[in-house]
Amino acid sequence: MSDHRKERTLVIIKPDGVQRSLIGEIVGRFERVGLKLVGLKFMVPDAAQVEEHYTLDPEWKRKVGEKAIESYKKKGQTPPSEDPNVIGNAVVERLKNYMTSGPAVLMVWQGAHAVELVRKLVGGTEPRSSDVGTIRGDFVLDSYSMADTDDRAIRNLIHASGTVDEAKQELALWFGEKEVVEYRLVAESILYDVNLDGILE
Ligand code: ADP
Ligand code: MG
Repeated sequence: MSDHRKERTLVIIKPDGVQRSLIGEIVGRFERVGLKLVGLKFMVPDAAQVEEHYTLDPEWKRKVGEKAIESYKKKGQTPPSEDPNVIGNAVVERLKNYMTSGPAVLMVWQGAHAVELVRKLVGGTEPRSSDVGTIRGDFVLDSYSMADTDDRAIRNLIHASGTVDEAKQELALWFGEKEVVEYRLVAESILYDVNLDGILE
């Protein structure tokens, strides 16, 4: 049986998140849902690593382009290109500028449904349309149209792995085995114990 408490996901507080002084707020959101921080580093990402990160999934460029086109069409607007791959290629270049513009916080969060929960707390890609209550919905206002007008990446504060497989690949890219710490968190008993039989004296 796979241990559901062991699921891990990669979270990056992007350079705009650091500059907006949102590190504590963002870390707090993952802590309070019950996830455990098992890896943490502060660094200026390197352009080659950023490119590698966003091209781990060979389908990503097409998907990112399709998402942008759909968002424009939903608003009755014309997308900058009808070819998802053209958009995808441009986005990778923009992300290299964005992600290397300053220090970022890289974190590994662990716990049941870590990947899915973190994505839920982070919210949709475009802050303009991401839900109220999510990190992107609550703390920033960027949009596809502003990013395209200024030929830059959408500033949405944070990266979070999209699937368990994606998380595994991304974690291998950014964290060495020794940089992730295995330890017990006292609160885990309350989250995961079957009988809660360690409370009463
Ligand atoms: P998410 O970060 O929500 O998983 P994607 O993986 O689709 O989103 O895209 C990665 C990042 O690229 C986004 O978080 C955003 O910063 C940027 N981005 C995505 N699409 C565009 C776009 N059309 N124009 C500019 N930047 C984009
Ligand atoms: Mg993604």
